[in-house]
Formats: sequence, structure tokens, C-alpha cells
Amino acid sequence: MADLYGTDEQAETVLQTTGAEESALLADEAGMEEPPLVTFESLGLSAPVLQAVKDLGFESPTPIQEHAIPVMIAGRDLIGQAQTGTGKTAAFALPVLSAINAEERVIQALVLEPTRELALQSAESFQGFARHIEDFRVAPIYGGASYETQIRSLKHGAQVVVGTPGRVIDLIERGKLDLSHLTHVVLDEADEMLRMGFIEDVEWILSRLPEKRQTALFSATMPEPIRRVAVEYLQDPEEVRIESRITPATTVHQRYWVVANAHKVDAMTRILEVENYDAVLVFVRTKTDAEDVATKLQARGLACAALHGDIPQRQREKIVERLKNGSLDIIIATDVAARGLDVDRITHVFNYDVPYDAESYVHRIGRTGRAGRSGEAVLFVTPRERRALRQIERVTRQRIEPLRMPTAADVNKRRLENFRSQIMETIEAGGLEEYQEVVSELLSDDSLEPETLAAALAKMAQRGSALLIDENAPDYLPQHGGFEERRFRERRVPSAQPAPLREFPDMKMVRYRVAVGRRDGVKPGQIVGAIANEAGMESKYIGEICIFDTFSTVDLPDGMPEETQEILAQARICGRSMDLRVYTAEPPRRPRRDFGSYKPADYLADDEGEEPEYRHEPGDINGNSINYQPGQMQPRGPQSHGPRFPRPASHRRSLDFGSSRRPPRVATRRSFGAPASIRRRDGY
Ligand code: AMP
Repeated sequence: MADLYGTDEQAETVLQTTGAEESALLADEAGMEEPPLVTFESLGLSAPVLQAVKDLGFESPTPIQEHAIPVMIAGRDLIGQAQTGTGKTAAFALPVLSAINAEERVIQALVLEPTRELALQSAESFQGFARHIEDFRVAPIYGGASYETQIRSLKHGAQVVVGTPGRVIDLIERGKLDLSHLTHVVLDEADEMLRMGFIEDVEWILSRLPEKRQTALFSATMPEPIRRVAVEYLQDPEEVRIESRITPATTVHQRYWVVANAHKVDAMTRILEVENYDAVLVFVRTKTDAEDVATKLQARGLACAALHGDIPQRQREKIVERLKNGSLDIIIATDVAARGLDVDRITHVFNYDVPYDAESYVHRIGRTGRAGRSGEAVLFVTPRERRALRQIERVTRQRIEPLRMPTAADVNKRRLENFRSQIMETIEAGGLEEYQEVVSELLSDDSLEPETLAAALAKMAQRGSALLIDENAPDYLPQHGGFEERRFRERRVPSAQPAPLREFPDMKMVRYRVAVGRRDGVKPGQIVGAIANEAGMESKYIGEICIFDTFSTVDLPDGMPEETQEILAQARICGRSMDLRVYTAEPPRRPRRDFGSYKPADYLADDEGEEPEYRHEPGDINGNSINYQPGQMQPRGPQSHGPRFPRPASHRRSLDFGSSRRPPRVATRRSFGAPASIRRRDGY
């Protein structure tokens, strides 16, 4: 383990050797040593939890799980330095579930999350992992949704509460959240809570919890205020930090592509249509995924097979043999099943799912570029996994390039080339005499042109599927799928033109001005936090944010209800009111100062000549907030979802998202906001 506050440079992965060591499928001839395999069974989890893990198709613990679970099972406090995508939710949920007593209908564990999306996701994970624990209940509680439903779910006797700090405090103050029997607390994404200005809320909660409890703190980074919280509220914590300095072979060309889960198969088949490949290894997370992806690729006519731990060893060996001898080109494998797999003809490795850590990324892509050949590695990342990509680049100290998705025209060009070469090969192979006779006979009929005959034969050869794809059809796989780099605007006065949302490029946006800027010390997270929590808006709808010296701009979907605008105009950040208003690129009309020092030029001096400090990339607030399913997007229409808009501003407590002091708590607070299920498609 790295020491508690070690720097990145000090960090090394230390892998425990507890647990059974499964024999590798095949010897690793290249000498790339893999860590011994640790099983879930060796971690001390309860039987129902183990059964759930098995049902979910998890083959082996991820590094953070392998190290964090035994510490938590032993009852120690824990600092887990891990981010989304590493399997950290299970790292705390599994030991918590193994420890709680489901027969007792009292709250035994509290998990704090920075956003409602994360609170919901974690609550869902708990429910999934607790599927074999009878009478288990988890209550998600978060701002912007009805109190009644949440209070009801608490009354039903939840043993675990997953919530955002603001709502947790509300319910404590209303006497609806009894945490006196609490034995476990998890602070998830602590650095995000800090960025969103919630850390004092977290401390407020921690200071009111029973002293005798286990506390686990998970954070991707360890900024000073988080260290301070750890020192103050954790007792003799064990730190688990997963990082390594292992570097991929330089013979592997690495590219990434940002893609929603729903489009991964299409993206992969399109890439494979255009690239020259020999054999391909595709890595997925679970056995179920391996089967699913294999079935989908087979349906698209690709010669592939799944390889995972549930397939008997004999059969697995056969599959690998077929890949070696070329009777099979594509294997969809879990990390465990692919251990030691060494096949020289692998030209491409697809990380269909992001690996759990940089080390397993290196192991995965090391399956290609062997024996002096070059190899290609493609990494699929969903928008919420952006940080995992950066982490891999940072640890491996290598840049992963954005991939250029082949267009329909590229695919067609390739298909025509293949078609032509198939014809030439068939001619070269000979044995055409029998057919030539038939063709001559057909052509003796003067009404039949040779081109028409050849075209008809070509169509027959296609067996009903089109040779070319429609180049004019709308393409949902954009050519450039990389995350945009940070670009700074050169214009002196910022433009009033909003930038499109990356996930919903067709959504009409409006640029707003927020009266808090760099001089006030505002951070993008505070703006996102204020809007997300006050307007009850998912952060995926919050667009570009630019911070200037004295003000900031933020792009939000068009059609903001007046009440929401009022609420946002009054919400406070860094001790100042946001004063949200549509940005016009004109100096704002401020009330004339009485003492006559006001000159219009003051405004210009404020707003001109500034460079924005930061661009918020939607979903960037915690790398977690986007669950993008383009298929589910609907064109914006009249507000037909019957939304419940934020209640009038007069009922609200004034929240300050950046002040150093917690505002006083008022008993009646935000009861506005539609539950996620009836939220409008534009986030309002
Ligand atoms: P998280 O980092 O908690 O957001 O988890 C990322 C994803 O990995 C989730 O979809 C989990 O269901 C999945 N996952 C977590 N642990 C494992 C495991 N040991 N094996 C396979 N998948 C896992």
C-alpha cells in the first residue's frame, strides 16, 4: 500500500497474494508477468453477497475490490483512492452488505454521494448486490425530488441510505433520518463533493454520527481539504491506492473512441470493416457481456467466439487453438479467461469496456504487437469514463489518440475494393468453364446486356444484403468522437453564441451570464453544483462554462421556466448572488450607483479582454453523470411531460455554493423538482 498521503510518483501497485492462484490458460511466452488471481471467495464476503456477485457475472475482484474489501471486512477505516470505472461501488457495497443485519429495520449504513445520479446509481448497485438478502432495503435520498416519497422509503425500514449531503441534512433536521444505529459510513467521490462545495455539509453530517462506526472515504484525488477530513474523521485508516508505472509496448498504436454503450457493437463492426486485421481480441467486463457481444457479432456475420470462466477449460483451449490456426478471427474475452493468452496473429485489441486500472489496460493491449509486429489497440470510453482515459494516459505516460471513425463512404470504398478483389481471385482460381457456357447462352439473347447480367449476378451473390450502405443517411457515429481539447477563445468579448451539448448536439441552447467570476474564486463545479441542485437539473444538460475575471457564462437548454430562472438568479455562489440572466455579449445593465462614480465604461472594463479560464465539458463534473442513450432522446416539443417546476423562490432557502460558512438551515426547504422519471427531456 502506498502511504497515506503519498505523491503520485511514490505510488506503486502492490498486489496481495491471498486467494487461490488459477493456472493461466496458456503460458505467457512473452514473459509479461501477470499478478496472481484473487477470487471473491477469498475476501471474506457473506454467502448471499457472493451469490449475487456470481449472478452478475463478475469473475474476479478488480484491484480496488481486492484490496479494499478485506480492510472493510476487518472493520478498519479506509481511504480508497479510486475513480469511477474501477469497480469502487462494489468495493464498498459488498463489505457493507456482508456486515449489516437485514433483520433489523434500522439504518446501519450511510453512503454520501455528490449528485443525485450517483446516489441513484449506487442505490441501484446496492439493491443488485443485495438480491439474495431477504428484507433488505436501500433508500436513495437526494435534492430536487419529493420529500414524501423519500420519507416513506425511510419509514419502510431501509438498512442503507444513499444520499446527497444537502438532502441528508434536511432530513436529519426534520427528524426523519435516525442515524443513531449507524455502523458504516461511506464518502464516495469525496473530491467531487469538495469541488461542488459540499465538504462542509459532509463534515456537518460526520460530526453528528455515532462515534463507534466504520468510515470509508473514496476519492479519485486527495486534495488538502479531503486529507484534512480523513485525518479528522477517520480512525487509523488503511489506504488503498491502485496505481502502477507499467508501460505498454511502443509497438502498439493506441486510439480511443467515445461511445455510448448502445453503439459499441456498431462502432466496432464499422472499424473492423475498414481496418486490415488478422485476429482480434475484444475485452469485456463480464461473462454475460462476452456472450452478448459474441452473439451480436455473429449475427453480423463475423467469425467469433466468447471466452470466459464458465466455459470448460478443454473448450477454451480449443477456441484459442482456432484463433491460432485462423479458423476463428475474433474472441470476446473477460480478463480472467484471456490470462496468458498469447497468439501472434492478434493485430487488434479492443477494450470494449474500459479496464479497471491502467495495469490491466497494459496487460490487455500487450496481447498485440508481439513478436516484432505492430499492433492496434482501440479503447471505448463512455462519456462518464473520461477520467479513466486520462488516468491511463497519465499512468502509462503515453498518449492515446482519438480515433477517426470511418464514414459510410470509407466503408463503401472498402466494400467495393473487396468486391473487386473477390472477383479477381475467383477468376484467378479458374474452373469457370461451366459458368461461361451458361453466360454465353444467356447473352445470345440480344435483349440482355452484359452489364445487366453481371449486375444481376452480383446482386444474387449478395444474398439479399446491400453491397453498399447509404452515404446520405444520418450517421450517429460521429467521425471525431474524441473529447474536445480545452480551447481558449481569442475574442476579447466572449460570444453570446452557445456551444452545442456534446451528448445532445441538436438541443437548442442559450448562453447565460452568472455574476460570479475568477476574482470571486468560483470554480466550474460550484456553478454546476448550484444549477444541478437548485434547478434540479442533471449535469449532462449543463453545457459549456467559461469563467472570466468578474463573471462567467454557462450554456443551458432553451426554454427555462421563469420560476427556475428566478431561483437561479437568487442562488448564491461564493457569497454572491448568481444573478443569472441571458448573456448578450453586451455589458449588463447594473443599477446606477448613487454616488456618481458609475461610468458605462466600468462594465466594459470588467467584461472585456478576458480569457475564459475553463470550459466545462458536460458530464465532467464527476465523470459519472452521463447516461447517454441517444435512442431515448426525443425532439423537444411543447412541455408535455407535465413537469413539476421548482417552487417559487420565496419559499426557498438561499443556498450559497461557495461560501466558506454553512448557511443556516431552515426547516421548510426545497421541495421542488420533478422526480427523474418525469423530468423533461431538456433537463428542466
Ligand atoms: P464502478 O467503478 O463502481 O462505477 O463500476 C464500474 C462497472 O464495473 C459497473 O458496471 C460494475 O457493475 C462493474 N464491475 C464492478 N466490479 C466488477 C467485477 N469484479 N467484475 C466485472 N465487472 C465489475
